[in-house]
Amino acid sequence: MKSLDEYARAKLSSMEQRQLRRTLVETDRQDGAIAYRDGRRMVSFSCNDYLNLSHHPDVIRAANEANVRYGVGSGASRLITGNHPLFRDLELRLARLKGAEDACVFGSGYLANMGIIPTLLGPGDLILADELSHSCILAGSDISKADTFIFRHNDLDHVAALLAEHRAGHLRAMIVTDGVFSMDGDMAPVSALADLAEEYDAWLMTDDAHGVGVVGDGRGSTHALGAAGRVPLQMGTLSKAIGGYGGYLCADKTVIDLMKTRSRTFIYSTGLAPAAAAAAIAAIDVIETEPDYVALPLAKASLFAKLAGLPAPESCIVPIVLGDPARTLAASKLLDDAGYIVTAIRPPTVPPGTARLRFTFTAGHDDVDVRRLADLVVTRILASRDMA
Ligand SMILES: *Cc1c(COP(=O)(O)O)cnc(C)c1O
Repeated sequence: MKSLDEYARAKLSSMEQRQLRRTLVETDRQDGAIAYRDGRRMVSFSCNDYLNLSHHPDVIRAANEANVRYGVGSGASRLITGNHPLFRDLELRLARLKGAEDACVFGSGYLANMGIIPTLLGPGDLILADELSHSCILAGSDISKADTFIFRHNDLDHVAALLAEHRAGHLRAMIVTDGVFSMDGDMAPVSALADLAEEYDAWLMTDDAHGVGVVGDGRGSTHALGAAGRVPLQMGTLSKAIGGYGGYLCADKTVIDLMKTRSRTFIYSTGLAPAAAAAAIAAIDVIETEPDYVALPLAKASLFAKLAGLPAPESCIVPIVLGDPARTLAASKLLDDAGYIVTAIRPPTVPPGTARLRFTFTAGHDDVDVRRLADLVVTRILASRDMA
């Protein structure tokens, strides 16, 4: 179709002009933080596989065994084909890890948020979401048709003011935020949000995609921030520190039962591959039994931040905001030439004017690389930023 082709071409060229066009780079990810690009051996500081569990021998073995025993797909939605026992095992393990009564596993973290939010809220209800919340929280809020207000990042006064103004006019209410912010690495003030949520009868949900496996002894932001038992809805993904694929919600059993009865992304989407469930169970074994290993990503991030003169990180995500997309791409290229993958993060993933390098640290990084990277950042990137 000519008009279709023209539309796509015009859109792409407008993105290109603003340095916002995105392209996929062929990357052969290896054990730990190593990746090959065009035959070059690179060290990646852009990966969310924080514990390298995607390559852990026990996790791979569990996935392989499940593939052989149960086949590579789950056949249909879990309500249709019958529930695979591996899903139940996984849900019980997630609930235990997060200190919740029960859990529901979804196809991905994105699907989880797209399913959870509209199951709990609809027209006439109220959602308050942090402005830096992940895209799928905002997408889930949109399709719920609840009145959604965005509060300034981690701004409790703003949350309180919005609740005072809008809570009374709405039936149900949710406060939703990333637990660990995906592009900034800081944490939400979860205990204080829980206080406000209790005061105004609002349901607090944290998206702990970047918290589980990394902070709070691997149990996530709620645990790290001393808010255990105070966050009724803890969602997250199996695709980052847990190393595989899938999403989940941990909550009280009645809430989970409601998800399994009403959430569209649970009902109308095929269950996870059995191997994904088996891999996640094996990964949780590692997280629960190896606290020293779980502490490594944050330790590496802290070493980097200290050497680069940056504030102490709260998670293993360390951003350096450069502002301009072209400048950020150039900095990413400079690090690439030195053998380091540090992806430039540009709008609309982050707000306009805040394009940045986003460094993520994993248990598999060698301190030698962390030190060399910090040195390059200080001498080649921060020096010119601070002069500009
Ligand atoms: C990655 C991410 C998601 C989506 O999880 P997937 O399993 O990758 O779909 C949701 N929320 C946050 C905060 C994330 O960083």
